[in-house]
Amino acid sequence: YHAKQKGNHYLFFNDSMNEQAVKRLQIENLMRYGLKEDHFVVYYQPKMDIKTGELVGMEALVRFITPKKGIISPGVFIPIAEETGQIIEIGEVVLDKACKDVKNWIDQDLFNGRVAVNLSAKQFSLPDLTTRIDVILQKNQLPSYFLELEITEGTVMDDPQEAIAIMRSLSARGIHLAIDDFGTGYSSLAYLKQFPLNTLKVDKAFVDDMNTDRGRNMVDSIVTIAHNLDLHVVAEGVEQAEQLVLLEELNCQTIQGYYYSKPLSPEEFSEFLRGQKQRQRKEQPNLKVVN
Ligand code: C2E
Ligand code: MG
Ligand code: MG
Ligand code: MG
Repeated sequence: YHAKQKGNHYLFFNDSMNEQAVKRLQIENLMRYGLKEDHFVVYYQPKMDIKTGELVGMEALVRFITPKKGIISPGVFIPIAEETGQIIEIGEVVLDKACKDVKNWIDQDLFNGRVAVNLSAKQFSLPDLTTRIDVILQKNQLPSYFLELEITEGTVMDDPQEAIAIMRSLSARGIHLAIDDFGTGYSSLAYLKQFPLNTLKVDKAFVDDMNTDRGRNMVDSIVTIAHNLDLHVVAEGVEQAEQLVLLEELNCQTIQGYYYSKPLSPEEFSEFLRGQKQRQRKEQPNLKVVN
């Protein structure tokens, strides 16, 4: 241990703590450089209808691709970006790219649903949040109808009254709102009812636990709460066919997970959309496709 005197306080740190601090600083610097050099890209993961197997939407997920360190996982850099505030700029890059890609897919008649973009707590509490979103939508000529924002319980429960006001202004624009990782944070049911929400996303941890009675009951409860509140349910992190069967029994409509697809690059996702379209044509041979 080293001890450093700072005012009246002694700060103790060991080498591994020091190493961690150095690593954080390194990532902070990489992110600053990466924002300048366009190293943040967006991948898309399909959300599928459990009954029809058709695409209903997708989630935009940021990827940080550095020339020297390779791909850095969101699990590593997002928490640091949250702390440094860089998440605000990164989040806007993601929103901008997602709007641009979706606009293209709509114009090519490959897609006609919503793209879900994750919104961090820092972004959510920006006083000019709605203006910033409007500007990005306008720049990309994307109507707000095509956007959904995913926020966590922590983000909205921090100051629920304030959150209601912010959510109302987003909802009034036609933007859909989803609670992400539902069940892992603290939500009050009383507030949940007051939030202008559209969707609850069941966290992967619960889906993973569905092979036990307890786990299955938990998912059952979440789906029931959602439906009682007139909300749509998306199950996250579905990997196995057995999970799919159970989720269908529990009336969960929408599935996101490796079972259908990992997050895809924009090019790969375009291909995925073309495949979906072909499938539709085969299933409706009498339908004339005008184009
Ligand atoms: P999330 O929003 O809950 O996103 C779902 C995560 O689960 C993604 O991880 C996705 O790749 C992963 N996933 C989906 N299906 C499966 C599956 O079947 N198996 C497994 N093992 N994983 C699956 P990812 O992309 O690493 O992102 C992690 C988290 O980072 C996200 O969790 C979100 O909280 C955050 N994040 C990602 N992109 C953004 C962004 O643009 N802005 C903000 N603020 N946060 C983001
Ligand atoms: Mg999400
Ligand atoms: Mg999630
Ligand atoms: Mg998450």
